[in-house]
Amino acid sequence: MLSQFFAYYRPHMRLFWLDFGCAVLSGLLELAFPLAIAGFIDHLLPRGEVGLTLWAATALVLIYVINAGLMAVVIYWGHKLGITIETEMRARAFAHLTRLNWRWFDKAETGKLVARVTRDLEEIGEVAHHGPEDLFIAIMTFVGAFALMLWFHVPLALMTAVIVPVMVILLAVYGGRMTRAWQSIYGRVGQFNVRLEETLGGIRVVQAFTNEAHERELFAQANNDYRATKLDAYRIMAAATTLQYMGLRLVQVIVMVAGAVFVFAGTLSTGSFVAFLLLVGVFFRPLEKIAAVIETYPRGIAGFQRFQALLAEQPDIADGPDARPAPAFAGRIEFDDVAFTYDGAQGVLNGVSLVVEPGQTVALVGPSGAGKTTLMALLPRFYEPTGGDVRIDGIPVRQMTLESLRNQIGLVSQDVFLFGGTLRENIAYGRLDASEEEILSAVENAQLQDLVARMPEGLETRVGQRGVMLSGGQKQRVAIARVFLRNPPILLLDEATSALDRGTERKVQAALETLSQGRTTLVIAHRLQTIRHADLIVVLNEGRIVESGRHDQLVNRRSAYFSMVD
Ligand code: ADP
Ligand code: MG
Repeated sequence: MLSQFFAYYRPHMRLFWLDFGCAVLSGLLELAFPLAIAGFIDHLLPRGEVGLTLWAATALVLIYVINAGLMAVVIYWGHKLGITIETEMRARAFAHLTRLNWRWFDKAETGKLVARVTRDLEEIGEVAHHGPEDLFIAIMTFVGAFALMLWFHVPLALMTAVIVPVMVILLAVYGGRMTRAWQSIYGRVGQFNVRLEETLGGIRVVQAFTNEAHERELFAQANNDYRATKLDAYRIMAAATTLQYMGLRLVQVIVMVAGAVFVFAGTLSTGSFVAFLLLVGVFFRPLEKIAAVIETYPRGIAGFQRFQALLAEQPDIADGPDARPAPAFAGRIEFDDVAFTYDGAQGVLNGVSLVVEPGQTVALVGPSGAGKTTLMALLPRFYEPTGGDVRIDGIPVRQMTLESLRNQIGLVSQDVFLFGGTLRENIAYGRLDASEEEILSAVENAQLQDLVARMPEGLETRVGQRGVMLSGGQKQRVAIARVFLRNPPILLLDEATSALDRGTERKVQAALETLSQGRTTLVIAHRLQTIRHADLIVVLNEGRIVESGRHDQLVNRRSAYFSMVD
């Protein structure tokens, strides 16, 4: 685990050593300062020379300037190291997420995934920076200060050390409680982020059902819970700070009294006495640092473990070792005795065999839940069949690279997803390097020209989150425009079930007809219009093909299809 963590440091060892070296130097200067004070009081002061005092002051200023410089380096470059590692991990996490399959995302909770890519990695970054450095420096100054204290005066040093176990216990108890308090704060924040996201995302439903007051109440609850949890944490923090402060002052008073006695007895010089008092401060400060590391470390490690777990998720659909780039498709689609199930329990597809010849249009019809969308998703390999074979032009899709396969299949799904950018960006998503002319021609082909003309800023109009500013039919035509840009030989259309108004419907229909010309088309059909024009109609029920034929043949047979159309 730790070695995997440190592997991320390896490309940045120079930055690490720069940061680490400066931190060590700065720690040493902290220790040297009380020594300088002791020398000043014991040796320079008695001489009564103003000039020497000025020299000493200059030297002191120099030490401070150097130390300030070192601290600036540690703060800037240390954090640079942390944020660099954090950025690399975040890029890896995101890259990995983009490779995972539909099956994985079916089960994933996006809210949690977002937290992993943001908060988890922020905490790892903190540990990456502060962890090793702080721990080492803290231990170094702690041990160094104690050694110096022993050097100055053994009995006084031992007296000071007696209080250490008390402070450690204090820090351990309060540190633990503090860690747990922060964990529950993060939990609360998570809860109310989810609440907030859901309510704002569904604000239209909230207002339609006039449930605003209800939502405000739920939010107030989450908000107040958060306040209560945070107050708990502050209570612990207040108690810990008070006790720590009192403990430290108590030690200082004891050292002052005992030290004075030693000074009177002549076993301790005045300079050493002052230096000793300063060292007590240096001695106790690392304890807080160590406690802070103990507090942040488990969170960083937990975050790193979740990060590692995410990277360990293997996509079950990826290019196999024998995968070849597919040749340009003629477009013959074969489903050969295909079986599929989502969770292993119930067969969603049970032996479906179907051939679509190049250029043909085949309509899939059947009741909701029959497996139509699922069957379609097998062709671009969004899911892997559990039995049988899916082939294009005689080659199993398993043996093609995913990119060459999916590049040649155009998909217009039932509910179109638009991104929050402009109309142009959403259309150009079909082919990122499309030229202006190509985009305009796609707009024309998808019957979008009227819409573009009516939009206040034409193609540059922003369409709102998920394209809320567009109607269902308009969104579908944007999806169609994307596919025009891609110009694939195979087309998969999942017709919208929701009824569109007649004008829009006609436009969508016209756009689809243009689009499917010269392409092999598999369409999940809900409109009689589409069904009538199909070369073949396939009726699917409970994952089986129950009937197939042309429209008039099926109607004449007066079977399941007929009662459906009826
Ligand atoms: P259709 O498109 O014919 O309405 P689907 O192919 O969408 O049918 O669904 C077929 C069956 O598979 C349904 O019982 C549905 O509940 C189930 N199903 C669809 N998608 C998933 C999924 N991502 N995970 C689990 N089950 C699913
Ligand atoms: Mg469906």
